[in-house]
Amino acid sequence: MKVINDNGCSWINDLRPRTNIKILSSTENCEWLIIGAGYTGLSAARKLSELNPNQKIILVDAQLAGEGASSRNSGYLVDTTLNDGFMLNKELENYKKKTDIYQLGIKVVKKFIKEYQVDCDWNECGKYFASSKNRRY
Ligand SMILES: Cc1cc2nc3c(=O)[nH]c(=O)nc-3n(C[C@H](O)[C@H](O)[C@H](O)COP(=O)(O)OP(=O)(O)OC[C@H]3O[C@@H](n4cnc5c(N)ncnc54)[C@H](O)[C@@H]3O)c2cc1C
Repeated sequence: MKVINDNGCSWINDLRPRTNIKILSSTENCEWLIIGAGYTGLSAARKLSELNPNQKIILVDAQLAGEGASSRNSGYLVDTTLNDGFMLNKELENYKKKTDIYQLGIKVVKKFIKEYQVDCDWNECGKYFASSKNRRY
């Protein structure tokens, strides 16, 4: 399998090139094959390994694992987003449910970081919304 990385991404090009690249070169058998090593694929792999510790899981990615959107994003873990689409009070209950899911996600990540002592510059600085407009004096 040839690894084709996105050389047009400045976020990736700014970093030192990685060398510990493993390329799948032989025929392998496994119980689980996961395609895509972003958040979704990695979470699936971790959960599957917890549930089936004796089964073989192969995780493949068309690019370098850990260099796509999931690791080169802005790094914010938030309990709400700007574009939730909830505009009316009658949608408030759904909005609250969504916020609960976000908060649960943050709790799970925090627990994971503590449990595995992940060095990731965790910083609970909160979130600020601001707006501005042109004013003529
Ligand atoms: C610039 C930027 C900033 C962002 N900032 C934030 C933020 O601050 N906070 C936040 O929560 N979210 C942020 N996001 C969104 C977040 O990064 C994505 O929602 C998240 O990475 C999606 O994860 P994923 O695992 O679903 O997909 P991806 O991370 O895209 O992973 C999919 C993987 O599958 C691989 N793949 C695709 N097709 C194939 C194939 N056919 N064969 C093999 N491999 C394949 C890809 O190479 C990729 O590595 C940001 C996104 C971007 C682009």
